[in-house]
Amino acid sequence: MEIAFYGGAGEVGRNCIGLRDGRASLLLDCGVNVGAETPAARNPEIPDADARSYAQIAISHAHLDHIGYLPTLYSRAKHCRAPIYATKPTMDLMSLLLADYQRLSNLFTPDDIKRVLGFCRPLHFNQIQGQDMKFSFHNSGHILGSGLVLVHGRQRVLYTGDVNNRVSRLLEPCHQGLRAETLIMESTYGGAKDSHKPLKDVVKDLIDSIETTLIKGGSVLIPSFAVGRAQEVLFILEQHMTSGALSPVPIFVDGMILKANKIYRQNLDFAKPEVRRRVLHSGQDPFQSRHFHVPKTRSRADVLNEQAIIVSTSGMLTGGPAHIYLKALAKDRNSLLAFVGYQSEGTPGRRIIDGEREVELDGEKVKINLEVKKFDLSAHCDHSGLVQLARTTKGLKRVFLIHGEKPKLAELRDALGKYDVRIPKTGETFTVR
Ligand SMILES: [Zn+2]
Repeated sequence: MEIAFYGGAGEVGRNCIGLRDGRASLLLDCGVNVGAETPAARNPEIPDADARSYAQIAISHAHLDHIGYLPTLYSRAKHCRAPIYATKPTMDLMSLLLADYQRLSNLFTPDDIKRVLGFCRPLHFNQIQGQDMKFSFHNSGHILGSGLVLVHGRQRVLYTGDVNNRVSRLLEPCHQGLRAETLIMESTYGGAKDSHKPLKDVVKDLIDSIETTLIKGGSVLIPSFAVGRAQEVLFILEQHMTSGALSPVPIFVDGMILKANKIYRQNLDFAKPEVRRRVLHSGQDPFQSRHFHVPKTRSRADVLNEQAIIVSTSGMLTGGPAHIYLKALAKDRNSLLAFVGYQSEGTPGRRIIDGEREVELDGEKVKINLEVKKFDLSAHCDHSGLVQLARTTKGLKRVFLIHGEKPKLAELRDALGKYDVRIPKTGETFTVR
């Protein structure tokens, strides 16, 4: 079997990997590097003719670094017509995230998105599907509907997409113990020092810090991705406010998060059973809590007039309403900026976490005087989680490490010594037997 890395190798972003075995073929994900400035850095390096030659596409989950190139690929001019397999929540979230990306980037048209969705076919976890090359999705624990992709056949290949082995508020941890000779594994937190604290301790830290801020009279801004992290954070806030552990201030939800909540609500089959039970049977719907509010004005003056907890996109402060809030709160030493997700190199979020206290937002220099804290609510495995995932994969011989910063990839390779470990570069193709 040939494995071609078109993107996401030696970098975080634009995942796109091709598998080919004789006449059978499968493309895994088709993402963009959202932060990249040039098309060459943004898009996967897949020639149109190569893209057209794949019989089918499997999408691990709906984040843009796994789906953002699909509309370009399926635009009328390129004649791509392969079926795109994904779980139902992934399909729903794709439609939301691609529409938002279209509005922000103008790189393709709403019709291109419609075309992509027209080629999508829903697939359940554990259901074997495929034309010539058979595959199945298995829960990867990262966001609602996210799947590991297991390729069946002479060569069994397991592709992790993004994977999390910690139980979260909403999702079961990833499926472990599958059989595969070849593992293509993400390495976002693969560095030797990347170790997640137990979730319970992180949640306690977050709640204590928010409550301290509220007692001081400050507000709290939590920049968050619309899909995944936001729902986890809202669940945590709702639970602690209802129990009285958090002072009762309004929780404002801004950006695309509300639309994503709706999709989560409609696809609870993919959430943990206790979440499903709670929403369907107890009459308490944490997605529609009385504590949640929506800003009423474009200027967000109504939100900024009072003490509040604000959960808003974008997660890395690259845009979105989070900018308006940060500009307003940046001067206030009593307020708190609470990061809950991964911050890519080069983003304002990363610069602030790395200690810079002046950043440029919408062309305006902003001094950061509010308190800054980071809470590790990551939806990715840490170093030991990734090592464990490899060790519990039955019959494993070789590992390709992707979707990571270079030093982290090397450190993870060193920890996986007993396997044949490769760190591919984007553009490379390997043959496995
Ligand atoms: Zn992801």
